[in-house]
Amino acid sequence: MQLDNRLDKRLDNRMQRALDIARTTPDGDIPVGAVVYGPGGEELGVGTNRRQASCDPTAHAEVEAIRAAASALGTWRLDGCELVVTLEPCTMCAGAILGARIESLVFGAYEPKTGAVGSVLDALRDPHHLHTVEVRGGIRERECAELLHNFFRPRRTMGRNNYFNEKETIMGLADKAESLKGDAKEALGDATDNNELKNEGKADQLSGDIKDKLDQAGDAIKDKANEVAGKIQDARENN
Ligand SMILES: [Zn+2]
Repeated sequence: MQLDNRLDKRLDNRMQRALDIARTTPDGDIPVGAVVYGPGGEELGVGTNRRQASCDPTAHAEVEAIRAAASALGTWRLDGCELVVTLEPCTMCAGAILGARIESLVFGAYEPKTGAVGSVLDALRDPHHLHTVEVRGGIRERECAELLHNFFRPRRTMGRNNYFNEKETIMGLADKAESLKGDAKEALGDATDNNELKNEGKADQLSGDIKDKLDQAGDAIKDKANEVAGKIQDARENN
């Protein structure tokens, strides 16, 4: 996990550049930055995640940077090149790295859910591949991970606050229904005691009205509860 104890200035500087690129990720996209360096250390291409911005499921930072580098070199082969990215690549990006014949990969934060370079699977160091990639992970890991946490934290908090606001609304409606029920009971008692109302059939009408109101309140609570359940489900699927 840890690089040799000595500080590798080169990797450090390159990851700093990838972090700077990650900070230019379009609003709404998960911040990830990637840079491809040529064999002589020259910067060939950069990319950020822009899946949302481009409406493109393949628009990961690595793919964007590889495309830019290949275009700059005028060839699909990126022999001797190094890809530096702030997050452990996914399966698709690992495939692109192999396809481009990238020589070495440096990444920052580990991705326990989708990482294909050691976390979930190890797509690059499979001995069956014709091409193998030198891998170094966990470079400036804390800063790379922090960038992602800062992106997700307000969203999670927002989701939680929404949930609590909705919960308060539901509790308010439940209180209202409870008090309506009390009113209804009282009104029914009064109506039954009141012969005049009874005679004119007003008691029945009154109890009917009250029942309708209670039904409405019940439906409103049910609708709201379903809406909140849906929102919670959406939030789970999006995380
Ligand atoms: Zn990817």
